Amino acid sequence: MKKNQKVVGFAQLGDPVLRLHAETVEDINSLKISTIINTMRSELSNSNGVGLAAPQIFESVCIVIIASRPSRRYPLAPEMEAVVMINPSFKVISNDIKTDWEGCLSVPGIRALVPRYTKIDISYLDEQGKKKKLIAEDFVARIFQHEYDHLNGLVYLDRVEDNKDIISESEFQKMMEGN
Ligand SMILES: [Zn+2]
Repeated sequence: MKKNQKVVGFAQLGDPVLRLHAETVEDINSLKISTIINTMRSELSNSNGVGLAAPQIFESVCIVIIASRPSRRYPLAPEMEAVVMINPSFKVISNDIKTDWEGCLSVPGIRALVPRYTKIDISYLDEQGKKKKLIAEDFVARIFQHEYDHLNGLVYLDRVEDNKDIISESEFQKMMEGN
């Protein structure tokens, strides 16, 4: 069976693919790239995630999807159609940094407080190869920076400032219910 035909879960912390620098996409119209994007879309919609990076489905190429939706933690998060971003980059608009909870489909069972820029200017190519820009703030900016890190071989735990800011998923859920 070809690797692209079936994804057996997400790459988990410790898998070397999560530590690679992902390759720039050269041929956006190739079957390989459209297959990766389709797989990412379906895997993300089958999960409870709000974003996904290609290395998480074992493909070390520069593609991310962000798909914000409101949650108990982020009731004001915008509900957005999943946006596919190829070869993304970003500039910091505001040096304002906020710390908030993150989780990751590649790091199950854990949540941690992570500092992120609150306002960024994202550039990327869409699935047709068109140059696009998106000014992202707060939760959407956070999702993007988390996914972008995956393209550089980083996971969110690498950004945690104090190990005491790492907690279990079950304790995180208890804390959310207490809100
Ligand atoms: Zn992640």
